[in-house]
Amino acid sequence: GGKTYSFMVRSAIPGGKLTSEQMLAEIDLCDEVGNTTLRITTRQGLQHHGILKSNLQQTIHRINEVQLTTLAACGDVVRNIMCSPCPYHGDAVYSQLQAFADELVTHMRPRTRAYHELWLIDEATRERQLVGGGKIEGDEVEPLYGPTYLPRKFKIGIGLPTDNIVDLYSQDLGLMAIAENWNVSGFNMLVGGGFGVTPSAAKTFPALAQPMCYIPLAQAIDVAKAVIKVQRDFGNRSDRKVARLKYLIHNWGLPRFKEKVEEYFGGPLAPPRPFVVTDQNDGMGWHAQGDGKWFYGLNVENGRIKDEGSIRLKTALREVCRTIAPPLRLTPHQGIIFCDLKESDRGRLTEIFHRNGVPTTEETSAVRRWSMACPALPTCGLSITESERALPGMIDQMEHSLAELGLAGEVFTTRMTGCPNGCARPYNSDIGLVGKAKGKYTIFLGGRRQGDRLNFIYQDMVPSEEVVPRLASVFRYYRDERQPGEALGDFCHRKGKDDLLAHCEIPVEA
Ligand code: SF4
Repeated sequence: GGKTYSFMVRSAIPGGKLTSEQMLAEIDLCDEVGNTTLRITTRQGLQHHGILKSNLQQTIHRINEVQLTTLAACGDVVRNIMCSPCPYHGDAVYSQLQAFADELVTHMRPRTRAYHELWLIDEATRERQLVGGGKIEGDEVEPLYGPTYLPRKFKIGIGLPTDNIVDLYSQDLGLMAIAENWNVSGFNMLVGGGFGVTPSAAKTFPALAQPMCYIPLAQAIDVAKAVIKVQRDFGNRSDRKVARLKYLIHNWGLPRFKEKVEEYFGGPLAPPRPFVVTDQNDGMGWHAQGDGKWFYGLNVENGRIKDEGSIRLKTALREVCRTIAPPLRLTPHQGIIFCDLKESDRGRLTEIFHRNGVPTTEETSAVRRWSMACPALPTCGLSITESERALPGMIDQMEHSLAELGLAGEVFTTRMTGCPNGCARPYNSDIGLVGKAKGKYTIFLGGRRQGDRLNFIYQDMVPSEEVVPRLASVFRYYRDERQPGEALGDFCHRKGKDDLLAHCEIPVEA
């Protein structure tokens, strides 16, 4: 017998918006052809693992049948466009952001017919006809991407200074909405963020996006296109390791890059408006939408939808989607928001979670709620260490240590990845845990929840069983010496590496 090949299949879901019917179809697929679990990605998408090659076409058919797509969820194009997901329907700004995300997607999606010809053609007739009828439409030429697409993937996020849940600074292009009179007037454009690092290549580094300009709403799509075209034409095409936009901006400097964008756009760009990033809103728990209805955000540990032991999240989600059938939004922190709930739905929803052993957000500790891990082993070919399977146990230990110190209510981000590639954005979090060698992690400290600061290496090559004991030293020092209201990452940033190390109660190898 020959080899069997299995694949990851990812749906791009702009702004994380999907219907209950679409979620049900994805859950069915993970049972029928996947590995019986479904994962909410860190970019508000959904992904399956373990799809056999022989099931690929059927899987992609089914996803398209429910009006979702896998097109541009991967590849050297604009990836899934992220957007602050909270459905505050009474707040024009939030609604305008989601509408803008939807419009932006229509400009950024590849126009290729090849996707449809490969995956959606009617096999029975082999005609240029889609399954279920309809002609294949599209352009032979890509108006935005040209014949060679982009040098590398390109990430876009849309957020607010008061709600940076999309991690604007980690994106190739971060669109930070500026509101005037309760409406979006335009965006500060942040360019050149990206966390991918290749361990063997010293020339690679994580970078925060830099504010480049302010652009009125009406011109935002044209300027976004100009940014993409500059990267298309000048990004490095000979070495994929340094092909992201951040390296072009690093090499040129921001002023030269901005001039080139102005040239492509055809006009001058105003300086960024002043702003302060104050918070991230993960939308968890109960909130009034502002239109008489409610939304509820459920924390999903590491985004993994599954039934395991006494916790039957997949079963609960099926029941919610079949009975209450609310519109859903996936969050950039891998949670699910159930939207448009009536007063009478509230008790039903919680009852379904309780009956299926699903911990509600109210029952979830702050440290767990604000944690994320990438998939790593066994599904990611690049992984060096465990991540998704290791973090829950470490969070158990952290909960214990924080409770003992009276710090259980502290809000800070903990993000783990199984290699330096940084898929779960570990380089701007309060605590970053990055797989370095077999069973060993680099501990980063000093980022923060607002996402606008890189963290620094605290200790390297820490064996997995020593990660939390070493963090516990930091927690203890934090409890004793913090300033009123100071967050963990801010404390670590203020104290600095040497001082923190001097207070580590476990000997640190030189
Ligand atoms: Fe894989 Fe590394 Fe990304 Fe984790 S961070 S999913 S191990 S590439």
